[in-house]
Amino acid sequence: MYELNEKLRALSPYAPVDGPGCVRLDANESFLPLPGEIIAAAKAAIDEMKFNRYPDPAAAELCRAFGEYYNVDPGHVVASNGSDELISVIFSGFLMGGEAFATLEPDFSMYAQGGHLAEGRHIALEKPGWAIDVDQVIDTCNREEVRLLIFSNPCNPTSLVLRREQTRRLVRGVKGLVVLDEAYMDFSRESLLGEEEDFDNLIILRTCSKAMGMAALRLGFAVARPELANAIRAAKSPYNVNSLSQVLGTAVLSRPELLREALGRIMISRKALLGGLAEIGAKHPGRFLLLPGETNFAALDMEDGREVQQELLKRGVAVRYTGGLLRVTCGAPEENRAFLTKFAEILEETR
Ligand SMILES: *Cc1c(COP(=O)(O)O)cnc(C)c1O
Repeated sequence: MYELNEKLRALSPYAPVDGPGCVRLDANESFLPLPGEIIAAAKAAIDEMKFNRYPDPAAAELCRAFGEYYNVDPGHVVASNGSDELISVIFSGFLMGGEAFATLEPDFSMYAQGGHLAEGRHIALEKPGWAIDVDQVIDTCNREEVRLLIFSNPCNPTSLVLRREQTRRLVRGVKGLVVLDEAYMDFSRESLLGEEEDFDNLIILRTCSKAMGMAALRLGFAVARPELANAIRAAKSPYNVNSLSQVLGTAVLSRPELLREALGRIMISRKALLGGLAEIGAKHPGRFLLLPGETNFAALDMEDGREVQQELLKRGVAVRYTGGLLRVTCGAPEENRAFLTKFAEILEETR
């Protein structure tokens, strides 16, 4: 009888929150559909597509469009099948079995999974009061000889952002590789994009799944100085980004005005969601703390967060309880209202 090894037995498949006909505010996706002109471009691309041929392994057009949109050198950019893929490729390539990797908990769960599969030794640093303590991180990483530190900025699930100057100090202070996951940086202004050559040990990750509304296409990017970017290209599977995603991603990234408009609408949604939560908070002092975040979701520190998440799901609203926080994605106006109404109801009933 074949038996799974220990490292696989320790894992379980990713389980999305689900309920029938739910308002979905659990996965931090954009609530906006892609604009009509992008859909039209997609349909035209299908007619042209050589489906019998492999995609461009370098995804050159896509990387060029990314470089142009963010003003970075396309030679520093590697495209991937979602940034999830990059996390796993980076762990398998940059970490040797038994070497230490560090995460700043709570943080994105794929980091621990990637390090576990790469057979790394996990140093899980707790963030005091949800915020990154740069000196503590530098000290611990260097003392434990951490070869790879990975964290999200702004952070999922805390929504908090580390200011640029602090991030630079952190990257400079840590001797190992620093993987800076900027999945939510479109909603903030503290990116290190464009500075990747100033650091010998920095890889920045970005995704099209959050601000850009392309979660279905699975598009992520790594940005690093050429030697590191090349190492990632060598470690990934050659045809990792399919041709349709390359074409559509290029089309979206080449329309900065559409992206900026979508971003503006998400920011309006965030304001409405946070404003509504602040009002509810004022009526229920001490019931929850709304963290001052810079993402497309709200992070609530509340004692009965898990119970409230379950109760919301029963009432048709899916949010996530993760890392000790209730995490609520900004939705369409009616979705935000549905959440706020149910959330207020629950707090009234359990006061
Ligand atoms: C959503 C998310 C990702 C995943 O991005 P994909 O490109 O969809 O794989 C990566 N990092 C963080 C912190 C995220 O929240």
